[in-house]
Amino acid sequence: MTTLVWFKRDLRTTDHAVLAEAAARGPVLPLYIVEPELWALPDASGRQWAFVAECLEALQQELAALGMPLVVRIGDAVEVLSELVPTQNIDLILSHEETGNAWTYARDLRVAEWARSAGVTWRETQSAGVVRRLKTRDGWAARREARMRQPQVEAPAVLAPLAIEAGTIPSAKDLKLSDQCPERQKGGRNEALSLLGSFLTSRGQTYRKAMSSPLDGEWACSRLSPHLAFGTLSSREAVQASAARKAEVKGTRAGWTGAMQSFQARLAWRDHFMQKLEDEPRIETHALHSAYETLRPREPDPVRLAAWEAGETGLPFVDACMRYLTATGWLNFRMRSMLMAVASYHLWLDWRATGAVLARRFTDYEPGIHWSQSQMQSGTTGMNTVRIYNPVKQGHDQDPTGVFTRRWVPELNAVPGEFLQEPWRWDEAGSILGRGYPEPVVDVKAAAKVAREKVWAVRRGDAFRTEAAEVVRKHASRKDGPRHFVNDREPKRTRRKPNSQLSLDL
Ligand SMILES: Cc1cc2nc3c(=O)[nH]c(=O)nc-3n(C[C@H](O)[C@H](O)[C@H](O)COP(=O)(O)OP(=O)(O)OC[C@H]3O[C@@H](n4cnc5c(N)ncnc54)[C@H](O)[C@@H]3O)c2cc1C
Repeated sequence: MTTLVWFKRDLRTTDHAVLAEAAARGPVLPLYIVEPELWALPDASGRQWAFVAECLEALQQELAALGMPLVVRIGDAVEVLSELVPTQNIDLILSHEETGNAWTYARDLRVAEWARSAGVTWRETQSAGVVRRLKTRDGWAARREARMRQPQVEAPAVLAPLAIEAGTIPSAKDLKLSDQCPERQKGGRNEALSLLGSFLTSRGQTYRKAMSSPLDGEWACSRLSPHLAFGTLSSREAVQASAARKAEVKGTRAGWTGAMQSFQARLAWRDHFMQKLEDEPRIETHALHSAYETLRPREPDPVRLAAWEAGETGLPFVDACMRYLTATGWLNFRMRSMLMAVASYHLWLDWRATGAVLARRFTDYEPGIHWSQSQMQSGTTGMNTVRIYNPVKQGHDQDPTGVFTRRWVPELNAVPGEFLQEPWRWDEAGSILGRGYPEPVVDVKAAAKVAREKVWAVRRGDAFRTEAAEVVRKHASRKDGPRHFVNDREPKRTRRKPNSQLSLDL
């Protein structure tokens, strides 16, 4: 009998427990299902697919070298599986657990029901540190760490060839995905290993200091996010490689120890945020604290939304970041937070609409991180710091020379440095604003003040606090874990109560 290995967001052969288990059992049919309905969702985009397609090509070669190339089929998962299972003598389907969006969750339920009725076993294995059916967050971090310490699983030495047509990997155009991203990161296992290697040996040295700058962060951050999202590298591989590097650099004073600690903290955050969506899938569609459900109009102001989406808000640093993201498919954490915060506070747009825009723009879209972070940066969780970034201040802090802003907003080239982040204050602003570059869509300080008052008004009262305490109980990290998250800062020893924090970045 043959085991079918269903590849999802785990596009590798090394440290792939499912593939190893299947190979030990006998013949293996390695399958990837291209699901057009999934790729037509509002959070999917051409850049994501183009990245995945490159990963699939690489995986096809890896598997072919072992003896059995990847089989690719296009269509509905239940239909594809119902056709393959009887014709290929399959008695067992194995895959990794997927913490995906509501659509993949519903699809998995359908597949499970079909498998039961078809009399075939479908067994899912835990992926990374996310625990399915977790009862309590107490002890979660220790469980994750134990898992990260487990030895990596070697790729099978050989796979028996099966007589089955491999199928073709469709292009983005075939899937009717037209999104362009000229400077997108490339997919594939070799790319992932090369990024990991260069980060651990050279690029990562200034990670801690450089990560918040959109210019320096492009180089100093690991850039592993799309690879972790689609599994060309397992998070255990990243955790163990950075632990080895940390041990190697112990005692040196060149910044490496701190860099490795910060990197490992973020890898832990990854699982921490994904665990939230695993525990509560409605985070994708509902405010974590119900008091915020109707805080902002569900129908976002179309003019403001369009301006933000196009990088035409008239707020130079916001526009520069959005245009950079559009062109590259990546942005550092601090600037993702700022884009979301400006949309949610200054422009008062609902996080579901803006979250979908950002999801499509991120090559590394990972539903668990994305929707948890989108809510956190929009102040709808009831338990995190409400941080209203001032985009003018961020521009000065993170782009002090203005080189990033000028590169992505060339309309402002004539504006002197002093006024670059606030061109409306320049005497000659009339020559530019409204003539090639827009007037600011809002008054930054006034809009932040109004938003602060509206958010603050919701945070009063016993009912608010009772529900906030419940959110903390269910989702907050514990003392033994990655601790409370104050945006991109390292956890500090002394911290105010999680549900009483509100800061205005004026
Ligand atoms: C609104 C918003 C949406 C986001 N959406 C995504 C998303 O869809 N996919 C995604 O991978 N990341 C997302 N992030 C988190 C973070 O910005 C990216 O992981 C990071 O910028 C990716 O770059 P890197 O791989 O160089 O990160 P590094 O700094 O090198 O970090 C290494 C890895 O740790 C994880 N990580 C880093 N920062 C965080 C964080 N704050 N929370 C959780 N995990 C983290 C990622 O897997 C990352 O690849 C989002 C952040 C915000 C504010």
